[in-house]
Amino acid sequence: MSRSVLVTGGNRGIGRAIAEAFKAAGDQVAITYRSGEPPEGFLAVQCDVTDAAAVDAAFAEIEEKQGPVEVLVANAGITKDTLVLRMSDDEWSSVIDTNLTGSFRVAKRAAKGMLRLRRGRIVFISSVVGMLGSAGQVNYAASKSGLVGMARSLARELGSRSITANVVAPGFVETEMTEVLPEEKKAEYKAQIPLGRYATSDEVASTVVWLASDGAAYVTGAVIPVDGGLGMGH
Ligand code: NDP
Repeated sequence: MSRSVLVTGGNRGIGRAIAEAFKAAGDQVAITYRSGEPPEGFLAVQCDVTDAAAVDAAFAEIEEKQGPVEVLVANAGITKDTLVLRMSDDEWSSVIDTNLTGSFRVAKRAAKGMLRLRRGRIVFISSVVGMLGSAGQVNYAASKSGLVGMARSLARELGSRSITANVVAPGFVETEMTEVLPEEKKAEYKAQIPLGRYATSDEVASTVVWLASDGAAYVTGAVIPVDGGLGMGH
């Protein structure tokens, strides 16, 4: 059955791969983008997740054009890395506002429709860094581990209505976000990954699609690592 899916930040990177994977599975897929030309083949809605009114308007448009969101993937995220003593309040709060509060805004809005439908799947894209910590990323790591507490609370609040909430925690994935890392840093990270390589966006996407599938109906409040073994034990 074709479902109404929304992937925030589905215009590029991991989000784009997730959107393509749902589309390939036969779902109707909406994506958010902020500027530029969104990819074709999706219901593209302009939306900045830091803006609650824009989130509400995006959902209203999706509900009208493809029905209430049954599968939400909160993927939009940013980094603003620097060492703690140099980190400004703005670098802290903009990362929290986008990655954590932005995910809250879309999950809250999606829950409204899912409660009415009495079914739904919410998947948050976190990071291995949320569990392991990362020097230079106190803002990002805090935002990503915050998603775990949020997902688990939603799992408890919404479970009786057959709504699941889970977290996918990728390790390093080849996208524009990691492209900017210096080569020696990349080699250093790779040396710590048991599988010895970065993930592809498709490898993250297949896990997200599985969490939204019938086969994962009894999985909720889980943190699923897709990190080549980097975070084992967390
Ligand atoms: P990219 O930088 O390639 O893409 C980020 C996406 O988020 C873009 O679609 C961007 O939209 C969107 N976005 C950013 N800020 C906002 C906002 N305020 N409102 C709406 N959309 C926004 O990143 P990745 O694809 O690599 O990352 C996707 C997710 O995966 C993020 O949450 C990231 O933290 C997480 N992740 C990534 C890893 C990696 O190694 N790459 C590892 C672990 C987790 P726009 O095009 O408009 O800027």
